[in-house]
Amino acid sequence: MMTDTNPSARSGFPEEPLGYDPRAVESRWRQRWAELGTHQADLAHGEDPYYALMMFPYPSAEGLHVGNLFAFTGCDIYARFQRLQGRTVFEPLGYDAFGIHSENFALKVGVHPMELIPRNIANFRRQLDRAGLMVDWTHSVDTTDPGYYKWTQWVFLQLYKRGLAYKKAAAVNWCPSCKTVLANEQVIDGKCERCGTTVEQRFLEQWFFKISQFAPRLLANLDTLDWSATTKQAQRNWIGKSEGARLKFRVIDPVADAGAANVAVTTEMRVDEPIIEVFTTRPDTIFGATYLVLAPEHPLVDQVTGDGERAAVESYRARAAKQDLITRKMEKEKTGEFTGAYAVNPATGAMIPVWIADYVLMEYGTGAIMAVPGHDARDFEFATKFDLPIIRVVAGAGQHGQTKFEGEAYTGDGVLVNSGKFNGLGVEEAKTKVMEALSAVHGGESVTNYRLHDWCISRQRYWGPPIPIIYCDDCGTVPVPEEQLPVVLPTIADFKPDDSGVSPLARHEEWYRTPCPQCGKMARRETDVSDTFLDSAWYYLRYPSVGHDDVAFDKELTKRWLPVTTYIGGNEHAVLHLMYSRFLTMVLRDLGHLDFEEPFTTFRAHGLIIRDGAKMSKSKGNVVNPDDYIDQWGADSFRTYLMFLGPFEEGGDFRDAGISGVKRFLDRLWASVRDCTTSGAPDADVMRKLHATVKKVGEDVPALSYNTAIAAMMEYMNTLRRGERACHRAEVEPVVQLVAPFAPHVAEELWAMLGNEGGVFDSRWPGFDASMLVSDTIEVVVQVGGKTRGKISVAKDVTQDDALAAATADATVGKFITGEPKKVILVPGRLLNVVL
Ligand SMILES: [Zn+2]
Ligand SMILES: [Zn+2]
Repeated sequence: MMTDTNPSARSGFPEEPLGYDPRAVESRWRQRWAELGTHQADLAHGEDPYYALMMFPYPSAEGLHVGNLFAFTGCDIYARFQRLQGRTVFEPLGYDAFGIHSENFALKVGVHPMELIPRNIANFRRQLDRAGLMVDWTHSVDTTDPGYYKWTQWVFLQLYKRGLAYKKAAAVNWCPSCKTVLANEQVIDGKCERCGTTVEQRFLEQWFFKISQFAPRLLANLDTLDWSATTKQAQRNWIGKSEGARLKFRVIDPVADAGAANVAVTTEMRVDEPIIEVFTTRPDTIFGATYLVLAPEHPLVDQVTGDGERAAVESYRARAAKQDLITRKMEKEKTGEFTGAYAVNPATGAMIPVWIADYVLMEYGTGAIMAVPGHDARDFEFATKFDLPIIRVVAGAGQHGQTKFEGEAYTGDGVLVNSGKFNGLGVEEAKTKVMEALSAVHGGESVTNYRLHDWCISRQRYWGPPIPIIYCDDCGTVPVPEEQLPVVLPTIADFKPDDSGVSPLARHEEWYRTPCPQCGKMARRETDVSDTFLDSAWYYLRYPSVGHDDVAFDKELTKRWLPVTTYIGGNEHAVLHLMYSRFLTMVLRDLGHLDFEEPFTTFRAHGLIIRDGAKMSKSKGNVVNPDDYIDQWGADSFRTYLMFLGPFEEGGDFRDAGISGVKRFLDRLWASVRDCTTSGAPDADVMRKLHATVKKVGEDVPALSYNTAIAAMMEYMNTLRRGERACHRAEVEPVVQLVAPFAPHVAEELWAMLGNEGGVFDSRWPGFDASMLVSDTIEVVVQVGGKTRGKISVAKDVTQDDALAAATADATVGKFITGEPKKVILVPGRLLNVVL
């Protein structure tokens, strides 16, 4: 691998001198950019602001991954292109350095994260500096810097003050190995995404943000955003809107309420009577609801369970508590337990039994369902297993009220049967009519349900910003006053989590004992730290205001620079990071801190790169280390090659052999500029091709079609240097500007070599002349003696004699025309047939 130290030696153009030396060129320009502040946008006054945002990396100990550089380069090209359009471009980058990844790695190597992270960041910075990014490093952020997380804590307090942050005991996925709570998305097949340990369920007191309250807005706004379609769809699915009904079932005591089966729905519900509320999307099937099922954690379970059933119910609940939430949703043999309680079906007045089963989740809907086994697959399975009644209330084509079920529920469309006065109605109409009837007797109401859960931001870990809350025996929960921020994360040696389910900070009384801000009595700090997704949910607001230490974000700068113009990042963040960022922006707008509610006007998801057809992984040893390639080929070639791999939004396959072709292209451009002349006139055909290339690259780059833009420039180089012709300055100078976003160092070098004042990025993107795009020449296929021998370029209105003369003179096809042709036929615009 990578033994080719002299790329030009195998370039296939032996007549060309050796190419340029990227090491010299690139370090020279990096130094000049730093000296001149080329990458620092004038944030206060720059005209036509353009905020180009890329997802900030987690600074791992392994260093920059080629996937990071792929994403950053794609973003950088877009940003540099905008700059060449004359816009003031702000391209910041920082580090997302808190969180469990850093902490677990620190534990593994036995280095404290406070030592490890600065070291990792220094290494990332070294690597990023070589990558040729137009990053304004004077506006970088590091989420672990108290000067940054002071404002993360401030964000928490804003939500707290508005009642959008609250604490509750919740069933959570618990990884016994990582000793932390996991989001549902972090549980894969019942196992921890990070370590593969089987996940358990625990009940913990946690801080939550009320993102669920924003579900309708988060959903509706998607229609107005210019985002990748796949990202928007992922968000819609995650929000999970469904229209349905909330229905009420009275729980009755069958002994006390003897004859309750005859009690029809009453509008009066007794105060002491437990009411089970269920959410259903099929209120039309209520006549077929033959039992209710509660989630094992449902708060009414204790109250309704009969004495005879209590032992069995308790042991079932204990078993369910051990499972993680994902396993419970998977298809498997149904289990459950009868509670001994009965409820009244509000439509039929019938007494139906109340069960508990783990296939019902507390976190969805109300944690209780009405089971309609005739028309729901899971309910059918459950009812069959436990011998519960199955009633048909929907009849499809050719079916009627007595049609038997053939071993499965009927889930198709049809008309209502066995449903009293609603018989004969279609499913959709019945939904409305049934709900009208039920609301009239307070038996239920139409509701819209969302799957989006509140955001659990508590982490029982060390490596995060402490949640700024103090608990006082007298005053209760007291927020830390803003002027006391930041609550600094203390340096403690024993940062390893234990099995207690509380943060390691809870072992440090000297830290958590603090006076109550309200009454001054000794009180206790919250010892949970916040989720790393909170750090990254607002970082884009901070970049322009870095240096303004008295505010989270400066009003004027925020007005000028936000919302973000273009955000480019990975689709793996489609639901967590991007949703949380939108939510926080909405909240901060509602609180009057911002005057927009969507943070990212445009979002584009990039693809992934693989290597030699396989996913890169450390275990396979096929990870591309950017340092090695930049050492050998230079950053310009590496960048351009990464973008040449495939469509940016799809990704591509990295192959070592491919990069030399890109270097050869840059070498040829370099040689063409070095040797170009200003005497005489540029060639008309070459200039036509140039204008077509300018047009194409100018269309492809903003469409993120980088690979086709590069291909077009390479194709142009072939035209420009056909037969190793010397080229005119006018034919090559605009190519330097076209290539600049991709290969910024060599472009600067060539721009200077051409004697231009100022840098190439202060020039303007070249224009093209539309009238030049119409070609006067056409290509004609030449057949000699019935065999196709090649193509020649001729004028559109060429005569047959001129076409023959051109073919005879052509180096490729001419040698086949031996002697005087017997016959010559020109098919205008297509074919020249020479019969010998
Ligand atoms: Zn784990
Ligand atoms: Zn107090």
